[in-house]
Amino acid sequence: SSAKNQAAVLGRVRVAVRLRPRNGEELVADADFADCVELLPELKRLKLCKNNWDSDTYEFDEVLTEFASQKRVYEVVAKPVVESVLDGYNGTIMAYGQTGTGKTYTLGHLGEEDTAGRGIMVRAMEDILASIHLETDSVFVSYLQLYMETIQDLLDPSNDNISIVEDPKSGDVSLPGASCIEIKNQKSFIELLRLGEVHRFAANTKMNTESSRTCEEAVREKDLALPSDNGNNSHVKTLKPPVVRKGKLVVVDLAGSERINKSGSDGHTLEEAKSINLSLSALGKCINALAENSAHVPVRDSKLTRLLRDSFGGTARTSLVITIGPSPRHRGETASTIMFGQRAM
Ligand code: ADP
Ligand code: MG
Repeated sequence: SSAKNQAAVLGRVRVAVRLRPRNGEELVADADFADCVELLPELKRLKLCKNNWDSDTYEFDEVLTEFASQKRVYEVVAKPVVESVLDGYNGTIMAYGQTGTGKTYTLGHLGEEDTAGRGIMVRAMEDILASIHLETDSVFVSYLQLYMETIQDLLDPSNDNISIVEDPKSGDVSLPGASCIEIKNQKSFIELLRLGEVHRFAANTKMNTESSRTCEEAVREKDLALPSDNGNNSHVKTLKPPVVRKGKLVVVDLAGSERINKSGSDGHTLEEAKSINLSLSALGKCINALAENSAHVPVRDSKLTRLLRDSFGGTARTSLVITIGPSPRHRGETASTIMFGQRAM
């Protein structure tokens, strides 16, 4: 419909599905079984088996097979968002899927040994640094983990009391307590990501869990203030304020989708399960509201959605990549991941 097309240009979330190749175990243990999904990338369709003779077909904005390179994934999932951030808009890139299906690989792989393996965050920063002028522009990075509705600073673990501040007028979201580090080159960005990983690992060992992580890359472009006329013209001088273009990119590595609607049976406490459930359901509701072009996006229901408030919907661009595995053993979880992606469109 044309209303849907209109929404496609503005607020709608672009949804890509990415299939991970079979891992070693699946190659051996499931050798006799066919994959539970079949991808038709030219048609942007995915078939999910219902039983041995029947399947359901779904359409996505992009369908990325197990042969899709990290570069290609970056280009279709992230590049349009990065470009609009450089134009001064906000944007969000999220990965949703079962644990082990490639969310972190897609977003966060550093690819230090294999540069072709570099993930979205590293490629995004590379594009950002290549597009700006470091004399006049600056890039800042924060790296946070959301755990049990508290925000942890992965760049400074001693910093454990971070609150979200929303500007009631502009709707802008800021985290005044969070580390915000200026990045001048790719090397220091990688070091920051590595530091964040160390802190995340330490925090998660203590808590025995994993929750949603976000990495923000904010770009500020300051056009130099125009010099005011220095003649003694009597007419009122219009002193132009400096033009500041500012964009914010939020990259979100969501908690494993299998944790939604699960009790604390898998070694996690019931409180943790409830909290993850809360964030992922709240996120789902906001994404659905955007998909339906609804005037009311219920951002207030969780910290995660409050954090994202100024970075999706409106003029912001949002890209969601849902990650799935090929194993017929996880067909149920794969089906619900696909439905999450379908509802977002
Ligand atoms: P998640 O973050 O969703 O739990 P990971 O990103 O940790 O999953 O991926 C699980 C494993 O599968 C990792 O060893 C990762 O390197 C590998 N993997 C995931 N996606 C791919 C892919 N597209 N190609 C090759 N290996 C992948
Ligand atoms: Mg992960």
